[in-house]
Amino acid sequence: MDFTLSEEQRAVVDLAESVARDLPAEHDRESYPWEIARAFHDVGLTGIALPVEDGGQGATLLDSVLAIETVARVRPRAADMLQATNFGAVRQIAAFGTPEQKERYLAPVLRGEKLVTVGMTEPEAGSAASDLRTTARLDGDEVVVNGTKVFNSDGPYATHHVVWARFGDDVRSIGSVIVPVDAPGFEHGRPEQFLSGEYYCSLIMEDCRVPADHVLIREDGFRKMMSQFNIERLGNASRALGYGFRALELAVEYAKTRNQFGRPLAEFQGLQWKLADASLALESARLLLYRAASTAQTTPSATDTALAKLACNEAGYRSADTALQVFGGFGFSTEAELGYLLTRTRAWMIAGGSVEMLKNRIAEHVFDRRFDQRGRQQAAAE
Ligand SMILES: Cc1cc2nc3c(=O)[nH]c(=O)nc-3n(C[C@H](O)[C@H](O)[C@H](O)COP(=O)(O)OP(=O)(O)OC[C@H]3O[C@@H](n4cnc5c(N)ncnc54)[C@H](O)[C@@H]3O)c2cc1C
Repeated sequence: MDFTLSEEQRAVVDLAESVARDLPAEHDRESYPWEIARAFHDVGLTGIALPVEDGGQGATLLDSVLAIETVARVRPRAADMLQATNFGAVRQIAAFGTPEQKERYLAPVLRGEKLVTVGMTEPEAGSAASDLRTTARLDGDEVVVNGTKVFNSDGPYATHHVVWARFGDDVRSIGSVIVPVDAPGFEHGRPEQFLSGEYYCSLIMEDCRVPADHVLIREDGFRKMMSQFNIERLGNASRALGYGFRALELAVEYAKTRNQFGRPLAEFQGLQWKLADASLALESARLLLYRAASTAQTTPSATDTALAKLACNEAGYRSADTALQVFGGFGFSTEAELGYLLTRTRAWMIAGGSVEMLKNRIAEHVFDRRFDQRGRQQAAAE
């Protein structure tokens, strides 16, 4: 067991740090910052763990995690562009796409020219994702998609979406379709903002028609896509962790320079212990994340990624909350960065597998048995 980064891993961290330092701390939220995605592509930080033949770098999941964590710590707002070009929908297309789909819908995303998002959640299917009602029906050489997706992060800027839909009645019939935004019958709902300011929208498909070769997965798609989604959690966890370390660094610097009662805040033990607790939680979460990323490379474990995401989400959020407390009133201003770090880290306790759903997964590991989340009545009716 070796807890130090290899030379190659150190080089990834250094590269991510130097690129991030050249990026602006803020960007216009009304449009997508394509230049940031391209900057990552230009230095080889997109598709880090994807195969070279798919336009990726052929490196490891741990390298992707290190890059995202580093960018999240140095330029928090730029980390989303690294996530979008390393995890999420790009991994689904890389894993299940045909060579033509990859050429058309993966390569341009990795070059920072297009954006793809995952359309999974529906108004009545959140944590119970397999309850999704969006349908896909083959009609000659086309597939017809009907349904509505909600909470699509960065949806308003996306050029295409991986839409999870059912081709039949049972769970095994759930698959996915690549839907370009200019497809007939497709429409974005009005842009809305999360508490942290990021834009999202709904995806509305009414007899939306795309060529049949846009079907990404048909058979047993839910299980297959969840296996990728499980790995996707490493990206959310990396950003939560990076934001937590960022908040801790800001708080430490502030505590060194802000004086009250004639002394720097850093000298008050009440605050020292809060920051020590934040450091403990972040360092522990980091170990779980690196372990999950390492094992996911060869033998993905849903329990390991659940442990890692849960620990990173909780540590990131608590660290941001602690940092805000250390800043006092100055931290609570909309001008301060802490509100962003706090609301983003809070969001991942809901998004990408809520902390409760992660605990359900971990409990199954602890008891070594499955717990059906559906009520007895409904299970009996099915
Ligand atoms: C910032 C953000 C970004 C998002 N981006 C996307 C995106 O790009 N694409 C997309 O498809 N979706 C996205 N989502 C949606 C996200 O996946 C869902 O919000 C999430 O799955 C939870 O579903 P829900 O909001 O319907 O809550 P619900 O499922 O209704 O859950 C409500 C509460 O009940 C708890 N709960 C539910 N079931 C159980 C259970 N069995 N045991 C214990 N507790 C339970 C939940 O944890 C939660 O606290 C995003 C959400 C957020 C907040």
